[in-house]
Amino acid sequence: MSTHTTTPPGTFDARQVKQDFPILQQTVHGKPLTYLDSAASSQKPLVVIEALDAYYRASNANIHRGVYWLSEHATALYDEAREKVARFINAPDPRSCVFVRNATEALNLVAYSWGRANLEPGDTVVLTLLEHHSNIVPWQIVTAERGATIRYVDIDHDGRLRLDQLDHYLRTERVKLVGVTHVANALGTINPVAEIAARAHAAGALVLVDGAQSVPHMPVDVQALDVDFLAFSGHKMLGPMGIGVLWGRREILEAMPPFLGGGDMIREVTTCGSTWADLPAKFEAGTPSVGDAVGLGAAIDYLTALGMDAVRAHEREIVAYALERLAQVPGVTLYGPTGEDRAGVVSFTLDDIHPHDIASIPDSEGVAIRAGHHCAQPLMDRLGVVATARASFYVYNSEEDVDRLADALQTVRRIFGPGA
Ligand code: PLP
Repeated sequence: MSTHTTTPPGTFDARQVKQDFPILQQTVHGKPLTYLDSAASSQKPLVVIEALDAYYRASNANIHRGVYWLSEHATALYDEAREKVARFINAPDPRSCVFVRNATEALNLVAYSWGRANLEPGDTVVLTLLEHHSNIVPWQIVTAERGATIRYVDIDHDGRLRLDQLDHYLRTERVKLVGVTHVANALGTINPVAEIAARAHAAGALVLVDGAQSVPHMPVDVQALDVDFLAFSGHKMLGPMGIGVLWGRREILEAMPPFLGGGDMIREVTTCGSTWADLPAKFEAGTPSVGDAVGLGAAIDYLTALGMDAVRAHEREIVAYALERLAQVPGVTLYGPTGEDRAGVVSFTLDDIHPHDIASIPDSEGVAIRAGHHCAQPLMDRLGVVATARASFYVYNSEEDVDRLADALQTVRRIFGPGA
């Protein structure tokens, strides 16, 4: 990792951090690459790439199966990665951290395993209009199967959740689970998850948090939040694609049936039936992504060295700057709250120019932003738009990147804007 000696303690220089990311050193369309799509997937520092390389050069074998050195070594590395994950989210027990492919799989695991076993006709699952499709669709499938109902907590004008509606559902319906995203991927709203958990628990409901956009960007402590499940993806937090985590309260995970059946998740199989392995193996059927878990461990080391408070402080600064700079571009409409509860994501529209056109001009300048519904179509409907353009920031982005985007948006307006 670069040394960050010129910056005050507890902070870092994003331009120095960027030096650790080989992919960001290239030019695109002849221009330096400015990557502003980390909410979709983050880039990887050299230490993560090297950890993957080292794993496949020296440590690769299937785990838990061999009685030979290499297998034992791979198993130890996999267990060590799980311990790093547990420390990172302050989970009391690493065995409650289940490795999955991504946040989507973690959310599906809860819906299919817990939902099928616990939802009954007449029960309600409360979600919010800020959810990513991956915390909506599995619940639509499972509630339909179980005869249960979904209610969605609405947002106010600024994109904040209407907690009065949550209270209403908790008071008037048999709510078994509240599923909420910690940070909204399209609006950047940081939801008051601890407060939501307190209210849900008081009404006897469990709380499932989608941490895909929070765990990479701020300190997340499952004990302080006092939630029941937390789902997140490695690839959004500087780690490899193909690895994610479901953390759950031990006693809840222990009471849940398996999600997938097969090798590694059993204690004993006979022709008449099977019994299940202990946690976490019960939920990790088949050969896991050991190398990717090791890579995630390296990403966690890197983020821990930067300091998650510093990561959050950096994003608070850069998003404030971006909101100010983009507001100066005539015709721009910005979505989401402005304040302490805003993460490093900025969704916007520009006059009535289609977001794909908005994104195409920055691309020709080497600036990568996202355009579309961001897998949040119910939210887009609520906002009355079909799509937005979205810039999202991470540890390697600096104000210079925001300036390059703002300049490119001026060009968008000249080409596609009113009177063009
Ligand atoms: N939840 C949120 C809030 C997200 O932003 C995303 C991805 O963008 C997901 C879930 C799904 O993540 P993955 O595709 O890694 O499963």
